[in-house]
Amino acid sequence: MATRKEKREAEKNTNFFLEFIRIKNHFFKDLNEWLRGVKDPRHQSYITYLPDVILYVMILKNIMELISMRETTDKLNKDECIKNIEKMLGIEGLEELPHYDTMNDFLSELDPSELEKIRVYMIKELLKKRCFEDFRILGKYWGVIFDATGLYTFKERHCEHCLKREYVNKGTGEVTTVYMHQVLEAKLVIGDMVFSIGTEFIENEGEEVSKQRL
Ligand SMILES: [Zn+2]
Repeated sequence: MATRKEKREAEKNTNFFLEFIRIKNHFFKDLNEWLRGVKDPRHQSYITYLPDVILYVMILKNIMELISMRETTDKLNKDECIKNIEKMLGIEGLEELPHYDTMNDFLSELDPSELEKIRVYMIKELLKKRCFEDFRILGKYWGVIFDATGLYTFKERHCEHCLKREYVNKGTGEVTTVYMHQVLEAKLVIGDMVFSIGTEFIENEGEEVSKQRL
């Protein structure tokens, strides 16, 4: 087992862009087509960037562990990176990467099922290539776990679907209310890795609901 320090050192020397390209070319040859095929929710006359460019930048954001959208635009909007994205997507004439407002607008309007389709494609490719066969339980079954994960917490209710939880400070008796959004995920267990295969938002149906659905 590698220590955390060794892991950090190894990560420092890893070119995540190249690793991603390598994995994509090996396992997910049609990923570009899938990204291109995402149904664009925006008004078609104002579009500068197609969904594949925006989603590609988002993938890079995640594999490079960039935290904010602003940081993503700052770090990636460089000639070399833009050239690489053009080459990977087989497109021309990309002068700049989309502004983070453009990406946020696109993502907020996008139907999540459009991304779920891509996830299904990716999991199917991995299963088809029999990458996981050694991890079948009793040589037969797949291990799937269900897990509720918190996505966001808020100090104030931000929409009618927020889940609400109250915490009482035992010393002072003070009550703190936290509002949150959670998802229930089905995950395929492969050794010490898990692959998300299904996601449902856990929501209250409205303000009047007394019992939370969990
Ligand atoms: Zn909410």
